[in-house]
Amino acid sequence: MTDIPKPITGRCLCGSVTYSVDAEPVWQGVCHCSNCQRQTASAFSTIVGVPSDALTVQGDTLASFKTASEGYQSTTERRFCSACGSPIFSVIESMPGLVFLKAGTIDDISWFEPTAEIWTGSAQPWAPHFEGVARYERIPE
Ligand SMILES: [Zn+2]
Ligand SMILES: [Zn+2]
Repeated sequence: MTDIPKPITGRCLCGSVTYSVDAEPVWQGVCHCSNCQRQTASAFSTIVGVPSDALTVQGDTLASFKTASEGYQSTTERRFCSACGSPIFSVIESMPGLVFLKAGTIDDISWFEPTAEIWTGSAQPWAPHFEGVARYERIPE
């Protein structure tokens, strides 16, 4: 496994939004929920959870879109760049203190090592899965 850079830095496609995280990730995984499929326009979302107070974001094109979280009582606020459309991170109401970065926006994500796949109940039949990784039909209790 490659070392995790300190800080973790990232940006959107056009570069208007940049961020840095001065902390270790607390969660790494993928989400197969249908909202993530739609928002990422892909089979699943690749996510790195970090402490929200360690995240510094810059860029005035950062916009947000809030939905009810799929299948449970919470909301998910998805932050994205309104100039280029890149999803950047999500804030989940029921998980205070954390933000969930879209791994593909991280400058060096070679170290990514998922520990869980969530919402496999809505995974596409053609979606690939990770070897030896815990799978949850919905979200872990
Ligand atoms: Zn952008
Ligand atoms: Zn999801």
